[in-house]
Amino acid sequence: MHDDNASAGSLFMVVAPSGAGKSTLVNALLAQEPALKLSVSYTTRAPRPGEQDGREYYFTTADDFMRRRDAGEFLESAEVHGNYYGTSRVMIASQIKSGSDVLLEIDWQGAHQVKKQFSHAVGIFILPPSIDALEERLKKRGQDEPHVITRRLLAAGGEIAHAGDFEYVIINQDFARALSELTAIVQATRCRFPQQAARNASLFAQLGIHAALN
Ligand code: GDP
Ligand code: ADP
Ligand code: 5GP
Repeated sequence: MHDDNASAGSLFMVVAPSGAGKSTLVNALLAQEPALKLSVSYTTRAPRPGEQDGREYYFTTADDFMRRRDAGEFLESAEVHGNYYGTSRVMIASQIKSGSDVLLEIDWQGAHQVKKQFSHAVGIFILPPSIDALEERLKKRGQDEPHVITRRLLAAGGEIAHAGDFEYVIINQDFARALSELTAIVQATRCRFPQQAARNASLFAQLGIHAALN
């Protein structure tokens, strides 16, 4: 089993029911935190209008996905709303090793799998202010067919039931507030002793600080 405790890079997992505002929050966070790298997942879902292969997702077929999964290419994978999603093991390993902070936008099942392998991964659950707001946002986003929206709304309760497994919960009512809470979590995590010690090894050595003191 691998653990990331000694490396400078932090691993964040942002999880939410569809329509809670996860991607909008994450994109705003990335715009202000360029050192944070977003993991691009593989999916068997069809691209939405405007989505580009290699940017939002690597879009692939079920056959290709299963082949990769069986070859052990995914750090985690799950079936969500009738499609398969997975995170590339190689990409995450190399980003973490290089000291980058990495953010995964994944579902709760994937977050459980990641946590087993990276115990210090930081889980953040995004809640909508109400189920009505979730429905309104999914409709307003206007990128999914009505039956897809219905399916996602029906799944929301089951997903929200896992919010208690996460270190942090953000209620995305006022967007600016939710974004500043997300930013605060990222910044606080970067100040954890192991991350600071790895990022500032020579200063810590000069000051005579040893990890054992933590
Ligand atoms: P969204 O709900 O608008 O973000 O819709 P998407 O179709 O982009 O994502 C559907 C679900 O799949 C969400 O819960 C995502 O967090 C999840 N998801 C996306 N990529 C991954 C992945 O690589 N692994 C896992 N386990 N879940 C993923
Ligand atoms: P997710 O990635 O969780 O499925 P999105 O980021 O696509 O959700 O957001 C769903 C919709 O809700 C988008 O149209 C987005 O602009 C809108 N939205 C996000 N946050 C808020 C908010 N705080 N208030 C109102 N609308 C929001
Ligand atoms: P969407 O199809 O709306 O982009 O995503 C639907 C759900 O799949 C979201 O909850 C999203 O977080 C999740 N998802 C996206 N990529 C991954 C992934 O790589 N792994 C897992 N487990 N879930 C993912």
